[in-house]
Amino acid sequence: MSPAPSRQDSPCKIVVVGGGTAGWMAAAALVKFLGRTVDVTLVESDAIGIVGVGEATIPQIRNLNRALEIDEAEFVAGTNGSFKLGIEFVNWRHKGHSYFHNFSKIGLAVNQVQFHHHLFRAQAEGIGGELWDYCVNTHAARAGRFAPMETLGSSRLAGIGHAYHFDAALYGQFLRRYAEAHGAKRVEGRIVDVHQDAETGDVTCLRLEGDRAVEGEIFIDCSGFRGLLIEGALKTGYEDWSHWLKCDSALAVPSRNTRPPRPYTQAIAHDAGWQWRIPLQHRTGNGHVFSSAYTDIDAARETLLANLEGDALAEPRLINFTTGRRKQFWNRNVVALGLASGFLEPLESTSIHLVQSGISRFIQMFPARPIYEAERDE
Ligand SMILES: Cc1cc2nc3c(=O)[nH]c(=O)nc-3n(C[C@H](O)[C@H](O)[C@H](O)COP(=O)(O)OP(=O)(O)OC[C@H]3O[C@@H](n4cnc5c(N)ncnc54)[C@H](O)[C@@H]3O)c2cc1C
Repeated sequence: MSPAPSRQDSPCKIVVVGGGTAGWMAAAALVKFLGRTVDVTLVESDAIGIVGVGEATIPQIRNLNRALEIDEAEFVAGTNGSFKLGIEFVNWRHKGHSYFHNFSKIGLAVNQVQFHHHLFRAQAEGIGGELWDYCVNTHAARAGRFAPMETLGSSRLAGIGHAYHFDAALYGQFLRRYAEAHGAKRVEGRIVDVHQDAETGDVTCLRLEGDRAVEGEIFIDCSGFRGLLIEGALKTGYEDWSHWLKCDSALAVPSRNTRPPRPYTQAIAHDAGWQWRIPLQHRTGNGHVFSSAYTDIDAARETLLANLEGDALAEPRLINFTTGRRKQFWNRNVVALGLASGFLEPLESTSIHLVQSGISRFIQMFPARPIYEAERDE
């Protein structure tokens, strides 16, 4: 028997299925970090389109941008983005109450003793003030300001920590330009059939409308909730978490800006869910995430429209979801990323980060030929 070809023999043919946020993030990272060891083709269907929400991020996205050598100003301009200092949670404890989950460190440890101990002592003596007085992000957010600042002046105090809000469709296009410039190929068309090896069960080839075929060695399933390969072909199974996370629906609508973008996301509690408000340069993204067991669509729609700051720019769009995760993220030669791999409700805007985390784990575990069970399981 001839030995299996080694990685050096020829580039590994990776096929990314789906051109949403997950697909283009994967394609961009694979061509950048694996270079000539891979040959990346992305298949997407313009007719099916993308989920198109997913407009708020957490600070770790800056690590990805840095590694991809993306210039921040170009990135923000190209995605109609804005800076995000954290999330303001409004009306959660009771109506009128709010608190801020911010992306900066608060205070400074002194003599190895954590800051909050000093604060509690000072508060007990009536001089400490509030925790938020010691957080630059909170001050900046309240003032509607942002500046790139790693530390506060020349002190050791943490400066402003930030992430971004951006237009998800523009983000995809931005990464598409990047990935194509670095060698990724794009194929447009609807996948109508998935072929598997009769013996191993590995996916071997995708059949597209118009009798076209795309072959590959490794397939990254970024096909969204439908999980075309990971579930449709491989029947991996799904762990349903809806007994923990009650929300199962979202109505999303953009609205006209009525004020300069706030440098933070708002998450506003409602009776049967909550509402996001995400400021972009050209519009505000809004969505009411709710549990269909506790309200109906008409009432949810009314709540959403009654809580917009500017005129709605479209009809609210309904998105249904089941929170949970695939039983395996890597099954046979298919790795699921993004919504194809699972979904937590978007309260802390973590999905795009989970895509990033999945990509970096896959790159760390990038398999030899053939794929070994142990690599896949780890
Ligand atoms: C209500 C809601 C709010 C969210 N808010 C946030 C947030 O604030 N922050 C955050 O980080 N994340 C958020 N997310 C998650 C975020 O939207 C997704 O993680 C992200 O958009 C990735 O989506 P995706 O690329 O996996 O899927 P999709 O955007 O659905 O892309 C799927 C792709 O697969 C292609 N495809 C599917 N079937 C076929 C086929 N048969 N043939 C060819 N192509 C096919 C489609 O054309 C498309 O290109 C939110 C999600 C929801 C539902």
